[in-house]
This record gives sequence, structure tokens and C-alpha cells, in this order.
Amino acid sequence: MSRIASVSTVVVHLPTRREHKWTGLTEPIGRYILTRMTDEDGRVGWGEAAALKDWGGEFGRYFGESAAIVELVVDRYLAPAVKGADPANIVELHARMDAVIKGYPYAKAAVEFAAYDLAGKRLGVPVHVLLGGCARRQVPVTHSIGLISIDEAEKEAAQVAAEGIRTIKIKIGGDPRHDVAMVRAVRNAAGPDMDICVDANEGYKTPGEAVVILREMEKYRLKYAEQPCMGIERIAEVARALDTPVMADESAWNAHDALQIAEQHAIDIVSIYTTKPGGLYRAMEVAAVCRAAGIACNVNGSIETGVGNLANIQFAAAAPAVTLSCVVPVSTPAEYLKGSIAGIYYKDDLIREPMLLVDGAIEVPFAPGMGIDVDETKVEKYRVHA
Ligand SMILES: [Mg+2]
Repeated sequence: MSRIASVSTVVVHLPTRREHKWTGLTEPIGRYILTRMTDEDGRVGWGEAAALKDWGGEFGRYFGESAAIVELVVDRYLAPAVKGADPANIVELHARMDAVIKGYPYAKAAVEFAAYDLAGKRLGVPVHVLLGGCARRQVPVTHSIGLISIDEAEKEAAQVAAEGIRTIKIKIGGDPRHDVAMVRAVRNAAGPDMDICVDANEGYKTPGEAVVILREMEKYRLKYAEQPCMGIERIAEVARALDTPVMADESAWNAHDALQIAEQHAIDIVSIYTTKPGGLYRAMEVAAVCRAAGIACNVNGSIETGVGNLANIQFAAAAPAVTLSCVVPVSTPAEYLKGSIAGIYYKDDLIREPMLLVDGAIEVPFAPGMGIDVDETKVEKYRVHA
């Protein structure tokens, strides 16, 4: 058994294809931190924390990390704590990390992804096998339209529809008239068959305000409305007033949150991240609670680079509760970009080969570990200071 020899960090900044923003975002996406773990045999595993300082849970009960915070937490506390552990013993890895510092799920996820990657490489299996197996071989992609102009959104919606995307998510949560006009425009541009969901990122002030606005949008057929305002009880109130299902995102970080959501008997969908609960192992716990409660799930994230996105894909492949289309990028290095924009948010990426998009879904990679190797020359190219 080869033990963990080192964990180091590197902050990167990938250039974006266009600006991608949502309500409350104060930092550019793509400025994220990677973890590089080695074992005693010289194998390398990679992880990522797509940490944003403004991303948090309701009423301050969880709060954002950033590249600089993750760098400090990993370098000072987590790396020394996991040194000497077996990378395949994920429960011990978490116990060691939790014993040395409370909280910081993004930092812990980044270390845990690297351990899974290493363990998979050593055992010769993809990470989804370590999570229990393969519930699906394709992960349908939801293309996310951020806070851009209506003109731009119309063009983008029409193009991604032509490229095979079947679900579009629209960021809302600002001016209600503009939000409704945006949904109408995207529906017209994308056609009647496109599934459209909206994400307010807690942007509406009250459940009542959210209900009035979302009822207007329901005329354009919404698949679901994500986190219309802040609070589990308050989004449950919105859900009871609407025909459209409501999804919990900022309200749903870990398995305990999923239990509280189930107790409301109103929220139909939970958005699971691999980072919010602190890694893949705990994301599987969230998925298990949701499955027991009959709640449907998708995988959402923070537009990770390919490194973190591979963890999303491995998780989406393994968790039976994840049945919905996922807001994951189609991670593609510059050499493979051919003018497509479906699921593309960056001008380049950090993995050696692109994720394959077929009929609007990513093919799950089956190579050992996370499934696609990291391109260390790209990591160097995009390296920045935290
Ligand atoms: Mg969201």
C-alpha cells in the first residue's frame, strides 16, 4: 500500500469565452485552486476547489471560501494531516481532516478528489467504481446562460439548441421585468422542445415576490425554479404556491440539509455539488438521503475547470438519485475547440483530452482515476498568485 507523500496547491486562472455572472457573484469564475497529491510510488492525483468567497448558505450558516483561503487551509492544516494516510481509505482521510479543522468543505473536497484520483489510478478503476458503480454512462448537460443581454442570450440559446443541448438554465433574480423578458426571449429562440430552468440565486427578497414573478415565467414552461429566495422554509412556501417544481441549491449543502428539505414535503429537487458537502463521499450521502425521500437531483457547480469537473462527472455517473440534466461544463482544451459553445465557458482547459458531448450529454470517462489526465503544461501556463 502506497501512502500519501505530499499535497501541494496551485492557483490557476482560465480565460472565459464570455463573461459569466450570476446574482451575488463578485469574482470572475475560473480563478480556482488545484491540489496535487503524490503517493510514495510517485503517482499523482489531482483535485480542485472552485471556491468563491461570495457563495454561501442561507442566513450565514455556510459561507464562501476563496483560492487564498483554500490555499492556507490546505497548506497549513489539511496537507500535514493526511500525509501518511492510505489514499483509498476515504473515511480515514475525512476523519483526519475534520479532526484538524472544522468546516472548509471546498478545501476538503479538493484534497479528497486528489485522493480518489490516486486511489483509482492505483487500483486501475475509474472513480465512479469507487463510489459504487455506474448508474449512467452519459450525463446530460444543462447549458447555463448567465446575466448577459437579451440579444446575446437569444443568439446563444439558438446556437446551443442546434448543437444538441436539451436543457437551458437562465440566471435570474434581478429586475423582474427583465427576468421575465429574458425567459420569453430564450423560449422563443430555443424552441418549444427545450427544457428551461431558472436560477435566482436567492435574488428575490421574499417568497411572495418570487411567486408573483415565477408565475409570469410559468407561461413559458419552466422545468424547475432554482433557489428563488433565501431559506428552506421560504422556498418551500414558494413551491407550495407554484405548479413548477422548486430546486434547493444554496439551501442544500449536506445530508442534514437534505433531511430538513425532505421534512418540508414541498421541495421536489435538490442540487448536489461535489464541493458543498466536502467531497464525493459526502455527496453520495446527500444523494442517498434524497433518494430515500423521493427527491430528484442534479449536479450543479461553479463552472469548474476540467479538473474539478471530472469529479462532477464521476459523481453524476455513480449516484442513482442524480437523474436530471446537470449544470456542468463540457471541459475542452483550446486545441479541440471548433467553434462550439454548448457547455463551453472557457477558451482553454487543463485536461489533456476534451470531454465528449454526444446528443447533448457528456460520455462518462472510464480510464482509471478521474478518467482524463491533467495537462501540467497548461496548469503552469495558467498559474497565478492567490
Ligand atoms: Mg444555483
